[in-house]
Amino acid sequence: MDNFICTTCGAQYEATSEPPQECLICIDERQYIGWDGQQWTTLAQMRRNGYRNQMHEIDPGIWGIATEPRFAIGQRSLLVRTEAGNILWDCVSFLDAKSVSQIKELGGVAAIACSHPHFYTGMAEWSHVFDGAPIYIPSADKEWVTRLDPAIRLWHDRVELLPGLTLLQCGGHFPGSSVLHWAQGAEGKGALLTGDTVMVAQDRRSVSFMYSFPNLIPLGPSAIHGILEVLGPFDYERIYSGWWGKNIEAGGKEAVRSSAERYLNRILVRPQQVAS
Ligand SMILES: [Zn+2]
Ligand SMILES: [Zn+2]
Repeated sequence: MDNFICTTCGAQYEATSEPPQECLICIDERQYIGWDGQQWTTLAQMRRNGYRNQMHEIDPGIWGIATEPRFAIGQRSLLVRTEAGNILWDCVSFLDAKSVSQIKELGGVAAIACSHPHFYTGMAEWSHVFDGAPIYIPSADKEWVTRLDPAIRLWHDRVELLPGLTLLQCGGHFPGSSVLHWAQGAEGKGALLTGDTVMVAQDRRSVSFMYSFPNLIPLGPSAIHGILEVLGPFDYERIYSGWWGKNIEAGGKEAVRSSAERYLNRILVRPQQVAS
């Protein structure tokens, strides 16, 4: 029996003797089956193949963790450190003793939360090595959990995980797509950890919003307005997305507003038929 991991998206599954027939996440229209067909691995196999996690402090109080060589969708996990404890935001599939001891030196993990199901990956493993740290899953997305665990706590709308660290359900890419607002981030000006709920664009000055990033399916106007409404009451200077370097250093809130306006002006045209 093993907890198989999909190599295309990184989702880890319930323990089975044979790999699952298909990956729930990858057959969804927001993802894709790898070009070489469905492939599986396990944590033990990844360790044998020399994978490791690279970890460094991005800004004071926030660390990034990503697997090398690149695995799944190449995402990073973020660890926010506070006096009341640390939050692990988003997960990577790979985990080893070195990553665990490095994070324990930084104060461990008080709770785990993810932006959306493409980052659930190895969250059960991460909880197990940090004393069963609670995993916060929006009830709207519970059907996408591929490995159930007693540490899972369902939530909706908004929840303050620790003082100044608030989970906000924005919807859009997934109904439960969320961000983490970190009031003390960016030297007290506030920061937003977004995964791809609010995707930092390549220019690192603007953001965008998609139903599917790999398959290029946009979101409609009501989803964009929904995201803006949830974020409205919160101030934030900096935005950290789910990939190395994809951060907005300053003016984050205005970047979200102007990017949303740009996006809406692009999509809000009279419905048209495209000739075949
Ligand atoms: Zn998959
Ligand atoms: Zn995604």
